[in-house]
Amino acid sequence: MIPDLMDALVKTKAAPGLTLKKVPVPRVGIGEILIKIHKTAICGTDVHIYNWDPWAEAHIHPEMVIGHEYVGEIAAIGPGVTGYEIGQIVSGEGHIVCGRCRNCRAGNGQWCKHTKGVGVDRDGAFAEYLCIPATNIIVIPEGIDEDVVSFFDAYGNAFHTATMFDVIGEDVLVTGAGPIGVMAAGICAHNGAKHVVVTDMNDYRLDLARKMGATATVNLKYQDLDETMKELGIIEGFDVACEMSGSGAALNQMLKHMRNGGKAALLGISGPGTVIDWNDVIFKGLTLQGIYGRKMYETWYKMMSMVEAGFDLHPVITHRFPYTDFEKGFEAMNSGQSGKVILSWEK
Ligand code: NAD
Ligand code: ZN
Repeated sequence: MIPDLMDALVKTKAAPGLTLKKVPVPRVGIGEILIKIHKTAICGTDVHIYNWDPWAEAHIHPEMVIGHEYVGEIAAIGPGVTGYEIGQIVSGEGHIVCGRCRNCRAGNGQWCKHTKGVGVDRDGAFAEYLCIPATNIIVIPEGIDEDVVSFFDAYGNAFHTATMFDVIGEDVLVTGAGPIGVMAAGICAHNGAKHVVVTDMNDYRLDLARKMGATATVNLKYQDLDETMKELGIIEGFDVACEMSGSGAALNQMLKHMRNGGKAALLGISGPGTVIDWNDVIFKGLTLQGIYGRKMYETWYKMMSMVEAGFDLHPVITHRFPYTDFEKGFEAMNSGQSGKVILSWEK
């Protein structure tokens, strides 16, 4: 029985914090699926919204339910939807796209001109139920731990970035050991990189990067990237890089340490007006690729296959709380002493 009301974490007003309150369970419409949420994970975006920083102020319109990393089961199927069954374990792509624009029709939904974000532009997943278009549903293969599935959205960001360029036998630099950088390091190592070097200023997170398979980590507060490269025998510079920090300083350090002809995938969202030395790009013949979201839906297919084949994401999970303790979850995220933080919605 689907109730009329549910618990949800709601941004009720333009101010820091979230409110746990009862809201109506969304009604499943034509072409939609209602998901009963089992677990959610907290993303950096949710932290921006929680803290109510300038980005959140410009993008979020209270009152709304937030959250977009989740796993659950199909609870109701809307009219016109075929091929799904009640009870199937699912997650969902967090971008709702138009299906009409040039990119959508070319199979590049991640670049849709009219994209809308679940938990950003419309109600999200930090609730007992979530309603999304059936086209966004991802059916999860049997046997994958739901804890891991709860942050597949973020794993998809890491996977899309880390697989943008061929890393087999290559020296890879990952700047930023947030949860996504840590996962990207693990993916590059798993995919046959020669060395994966991760930079950050946070030892707790660099430790997670090593647990996921990074060859070496550099705490920029007291270690030197050039020294580490020398120790590893990286003479000409990094062949491939993943920018996962959103820091202009990291981006510039990365460009300086690429080999001529190197390739860099940029996921981190730098502040407006970030300056780089374009001569690093031009004289070195670098390739820079911006990354947004996940390839719809090829990234989802491949990243799930890799987990099914044994790639282990558990080391990046550091905290688990019931949803009623959501404040502890955001505290852990804000402390920087965390990887993925999971909130359980199961009673
Ligand atoms: P996060 O904020 O948790 O982690 C960023 C890490 O970078 C932190 O550990 C921080 O200490 C580190 N850092 C800061 N300055 C640095 C420097 N100079 N050198 C090296 N490391 C430095 O972020 P996350 O959740 O892991 O996400 C990574 C980035 O990707 C963020 O910028 C986020 O906004 C962005 N993002 C982009 C997309 C997209 O579609 N493009 C999607 C999700 C996240
Ligand atoms: Zn579109």
